[in-house]
Amino acid sequence: MVIGIIGGGASGMAAALAAAENPNVEVLLLERQARVGRKLQATGNGRCNLSNLHAAPGCYHGDDLSFADYALTVYPAVKTLEWFAKLGLYTVTEDSGRVYPYSDQANSVVDVLRFGLQKDNIRLVTGAEVTRVKKTDNGFFVTCTEGSYACDKLIIACGGLAGTKLGGSMSGYKLLRSFGHNCTKLRPALVQLKSDWSGCAALKGVRTNCLVNIFHNGELYSHSTGELQFTDYGLSGPVIFEISRDVCQGSGEWVCKLDFLPDVSGDVLADMLRNRKEMPITTDDLLTGILHNRLGRVLTTAAGVRMQQPCSELTEDALMQVVAVVQGLEVNLTDTMGMDCAQVTAGGICTDEFDPMTMESRLVPGLYACGEVLDIDGDCGGYNLQWAWSSGRLAGHSAGGNT
Ligand SMILES: Cc1cc2nc3c(=O)[nH]c(=O)nc-3n(C[C@H](O)[C@H](O)[C@H](O)COP(=O)(O)OP(=O)(O)OC[C@H]3O[C@@H](n4cnc5c(N)ncnc54)[C@H](O)[C@@H]3O)c2cc1C
Repeated sequence: MVIGIIGGGASGMAAALAAAENPNVEVLLLERQARVGRKLQATGNGRCNLSNLHAAPGCYHGDDLSFADYALTVYPAVKTLEWFAKLGLYTVTEDSGRVYPYSDQANSVVDVLRFGLQKDNIRLVTGAEVTRVKKTDNGFFVTCTEGSYACDKLIIACGGLAGTKLGGSMSGYKLLRSFGHNCTKLRPALVQLKSDWSGCAALKGVRTNCLVNIFHNGELYSHSTGELQFTDYGLSGPVIFEISRDVCQGSGEWVCKLDFLPDVSGDVLADMLRNRKEMPITTDDLLTGILHNRLGRVLTTAAGVRMQQPCSELTEDALMQVVAVVQGLEVNLTDTMGMDCAQVTAGGICTDEFDPMTMESRLVPGLYACGEVLDIDGDCGGYNLQWAWSSGRLAGHSAGGNT
């Protein structure tokens, strides 16, 4: 039996290795790029946050939240780490549950997967972009840019649209649609947000802890606390990634309120600033020692306080205005940085058209899908790769008949 797999990314390689555990199966892995795991190599800022020990269905999103349950239960993070250990990867787990290769290099993850693929019953063809797929009487016929192949079963593991420069494309959605499958609306998730507030550019590169509340048409939409980073176009950093899902989608006004001292009460902060009135310093240094110096000056100015004034001359009203800005700066959000920059695609091929116990299509027997192409996306922190491993291994084992 020949199992064809389209896409040599995280889920496709996991599926190939799982299917090849059955020695009677021949696996054909088709990858359009020159190498497998191109996106994987760029994950986690080059460190690859390959899993999270807290991965559970509640960390995922999609129209049918229960779809991911089975794959994540049968192939949980702990088993993924055992599987990687067998492949030769030594990992470390941070207190947060995030798992990284001990080498701190995403390359290591790609390398051990590549070594694993060097099995007698796996045929890897790179530079092979699949442009058409057809159901035949006995299986499937796959047309690539460099040739065509027949297989008995077919797994689509083409990934999503996010991270376009790293290989994200519409390809998997198109191929699955050609079999009659449907796709939900695709949106960027885990993505940076654009803002027209001029302070962003002035604060470019500044990182700070922050409570971020996002409001849509005046109603609280999402919130989280963590590291925020200012960029010339707007806001980035883990806290923004965490709450960016579906922000700036649809019409209406999107605003975020930033609290730069979420653990300090307004009264305590006001007292801290009143103390500064006793010091021989100017308003340039009103927030020095409390916040990043550049951030302190931009916030003081945003509160309407002029620079280079003696702090002793600050009125109580001005001081309270600074408190209000430090703990509730309002920043207008204009857009996301889009699919090019997003780490994951929200939305995808409708999961109710697949069997969650096997990942097999309910419309076309012998056809499987796994990974990001399906309407499942995870939170920030290793959850998306965990979904790729879990769903990929489930699809591979099911197609290979070795569950
Ligand atoms: C910058 C960035 C950082 C990220 N960091 C993390 C992280 O640290 N932790 C985490 O959990 N997740 C992270 N993610 C998300 C994670 O990488 C993806 O969710 C995951 O790789 C999805 O796996 P996949 O197998 O579905 O798709 P992919 O890994 O994208 O693999 C799909 C493969 O299919 C190939 N392909 C597509 N179409 C065709 C075709 N027609 N013919 C042949 N081949 C085709 C592609 O070239 C690609 O190699 C990150 C994403 C990005 C963009």
